[in-house]
Amino acid sequence: MIPLDPIVITQSLIQMESITPHAGDTLNYLKSLLIPMGFTIEEFFFHDVSNLYATFGNSGPHICFLGHVDVVPIGNGDHWTYPPFSGVIHDDVLYGRGAVDMKGGIGSFVAAVSQIIPHLKNGKISILLTSDEEGPAHHGVKEVVHVFKERNEKIDLCIVGEPTNLDQLGAMIKIGRRGSFNATIKFKGVMGHVAYPTRCSNPIPSMLSFLAIIQNHIFDAGTDLFDPTHLEITSIDVGNPTSNVIPGEVSVKFNVRYTPLHTFDSLKTFFETKAFECVNDQYEATWIHGAEPFYCHDQTSAQLLQNVVHEITGINPVLSTTGGTSDGRFMKDICSVMEFGLVGNTAHQINECVRVDDLVKLKDIYFEFLNRYFKNNQESNSI
Ligand SMILES: [Zn+2]
Repeated sequence: MIPLDPIVITQSLIQMESITPHAGDTLNYLKSLLIPMGFTIEEFFFHDVSNLYATFGNSGPHICFLGHVDVVPIGNGDHWTYPPFSGVIHDDVLYGRGAVDMKGGIGSFVAAVSQIIPHLKNGKISILLTSDEEGPAHHGVKEVVHVFKERNEKIDLCIVGEPTNLDQLGAMIKIGRRGSFNATIKFKGVMGHVAYPTRCSNPIPSMLSFLAIIQNHIFDAGTDLFDPTHLEITSIDVGNPTSNVIPGEVSVKFNVRYTPLHTFDSLKTFFETKAFECVNDQYEATWIHGAEPFYCHDQTSAQLLQNVVHEITGINPVLSTTGGTSDGRFMKDICSVMEFGLVGNTAHQINECVRVDDLVKLKDIYFEFLNRYFKNNQESNSI
């Protein structure tokens, strides 16, 4: 079988509109590529989200490529140089929504897989794709992982094809992420006339004391793998349109990115204790926990990927845990997770684009990684 071309796959996927949570024709198209290669297809539909799990091979170490076919909206279509779903290639650059985030990553790993499976003697490769990564991510990989846990699906290593490089291909491999949660804390007082403050209770001074405490608190100094825990205040809301009324409540929103030196519960307790110190029990807290911190325990594979990226791009990639969350946060419950993909500096922007030679290089990186991974783990594989 002739190996597939990552540029053709990426261009075709871009031309299939799939704004989150819709998959459009993308998953049917990918099925039409994977089935002739010998993949077994399983589909999971949760609410309006489509998920596809394609597996090849029955024994040996199991590598799973993870990706999403959904894309963010295009913004103002008039601002695009080329229509966002046209997949135009100009001066060796492929333009379109999803070019780097992450239809290009899918194009590269599907092409790499098509190149290796004719030679794969003992090993298992799977591809897991969802249409709910850019949205709330409730019915995508999160739910598939529930199914995997129930049936004890064994995966050794997951490679997420998200764009991990900031400016050039080869700059960064993600080997984990800090944890993340959002908090809204409402301080309650007693509303009234500013001329009669003894009859009211203004919650704003208490809130200011609270904010001063949490803003100046040093949670930790970070670790070898993780930047320090960081709090960012994102909004303070009083909603008071008048100048002669003491407001009855004020709320603050903040996000925390945290290292494995803490847990969500330990941090929640810290904030609740400080809130109580400032306003007793006159507060209400709402917590949304996005992700726990994690890192890839398979250091051997992280080093192997680092070596392969260096050989193919000439750049020695940093192993990093920075950045936002991805679906890797769900997969980490069942296997080691690494992320490496394209250059993400145009992701979610007008004129999102990818250099076509980056698609080919990424395909080469995935192929060479698979080749050596299976050789190292099973001598009977030879390419
Ligand atoms: Zn993405």
